[in-house]
Amino acid sequence: MVRKKSDSTPQQQTPTEPQATTPAQSQSAAGSTPQAATAPPMTKGQRAVALAAMPSDTSVLAGTFIGLLVLTSAYFLIEAAFNVEATSGYPMILRMALGLVGGIILFAVILAVGMIVVRMQRQMMLGNAMQVEYSDYAWLRDWANIVAADLELPRVEIFVTQDPVINAYAFGFIDPYCIVLNSGSIRYLSRDELKTVVVHEMAHIKYRHTLASVYLQPFITIPVVSIVTGWIAGFWQRRCEYTADRLALTYMWDAELVKNALVKVHIGPDTADGMNEIARQWMQYTAERPMNRFAQTFSNHPFLVRRLSRIDRTAQALGMTPPVADSQPAKTQDSSGAAS
Ligand SMILES: [Zn+2]
Repeated sequence: MVRKKSDSTPQQQTPTEPQATTPAQSQSAAGSTPQAATAPPMTKGQRAVALAAMPSDTSVLAGTFIGLLVLTSAYFLIEAAFNVEATSGYPMILRMALGLVGGIILFAVILAVGMIVVRMQRQMMLGNAMQVEYSDYAWLRDWANIVAADLELPRVEIFVTQDPVINAYAFGFIDPYCIVLNSGSIRYLSRDELKTVVVHEMAHIKYRHTLASVYLQPFITIPVVSIVTGWIAGFWQRRCEYTADRLALTYMWDAELVKNALVKVHIGPDTADGMNEIARQWMQYTAERPMNRFAQTFSNHPFLVRRLSRIDRTAQALGMTPPVADSQPAKTQDSSGAAS
């Protein structure tokens, strides 16, 4: 049963596939946006990156870093302020400055640990996963190389690892950057959906989310402490997901495609088709409740229905029209259902 569903889904999508259609559509559709009319000539990738960028993400990241730096320095600052024996001869301001230096040194050590961990992560992939580069997945390699160049990214290494869960993630702080696709993604997603997922992951590299994560990672993996640090970092991490979704949308220029991929990632390929409009509206309704919003603060990804709504709103704001005729009714209903 699992087989049948999953097999049929990609086949339905594949006919729509001609990869050339999507880029071509996006070119023409993006070309009709007001921004494109006034802006100097941009490549498709540059335009997508510009449309998806959200400068306030950087402010939230800066706030996150400051918060974590304060936490890192807290011990040293308290020590400097109250344990005056060692530095009793110094004025308070100097003692606090020394405390801050201690915090900054610890901050740098954590950063170094994060860098080592990320490099080791790549070595693990090289040892245990399949690198698409030299495999039979040439179409994915070739396509990813083109997109990476278009998005003005260094080349991205794509790995496939055995994990039946549909998912993917990106990491790296310097060339080479890596994207890992679970084997479930290869099995259950159509080619276009897979491309959408890859662009989403490329966004995490493009907007330097993976770079910032090098520092965040040690914090959010330390037991106990991570309850607080993970919660703080979550506010920025969830924004990153919205931004990555936006780039997937502005690059692929197909809201239905991006939403379908997200739905499959969240609820699986077997029930993805069951995520009808009523189900979504009900989820949207509950998502507006305070407890639901509060619960989301403990997740590093926004809840599915909120991501879907954001995609709808962004698509609407960009004047994007659904490229596939049969997705029109669902799209129209989506928009009204998502309005909140
Ligand atoms: Zn993501």
